[in-house]
Amino acid sequence: MPSPQYLIAHACFDCRKSFKVTPRPDFTATCPSCGGQLHEMGRSFKAPPAKDTEQWAKVQALYSAGFRFFSYRSVDAPPLPAKLSEVEAFIHNNPAHPLRVAAPNNSFKPKPLRGSA
Ligand SMILES: [Zn+2]
Repeated sequence: MPSPQYLIAHACFDCRKSFKVTPRPDFTATCPSCGGQLHEMGRSFKAPPAKDTEQWAKVQALYSAGFRFFSYRSVDAPPLPAKLSEVEAFIHNNPAHPLRVAAPNNSFKPKPLRGSA
């Protein structure tokens, strides 16, 4: 049995759910609800409530920009933005943020929220 400490939060952006998954090489975790691809969010990821579409769009926008959710208390870096409206400026102002560990992937970009823009 894998130790619980190796479980890492993976999110389904479609269902707005988070699942603890043991990461394995050459293995793509799929969502138990919809069968879609799960995305490895990082050890410190805290899933917003499923009905909180703004917060989910925020974490999805950060994910698509290459950010992952690890503890950064020991690192001298600005905290991740609290609101979706702050994400664009945050990404622009922090191109070398220590939590930006992956290449940006625009295919994960959230669709514009209804009523915004
Ligand atoms: Zn799903």
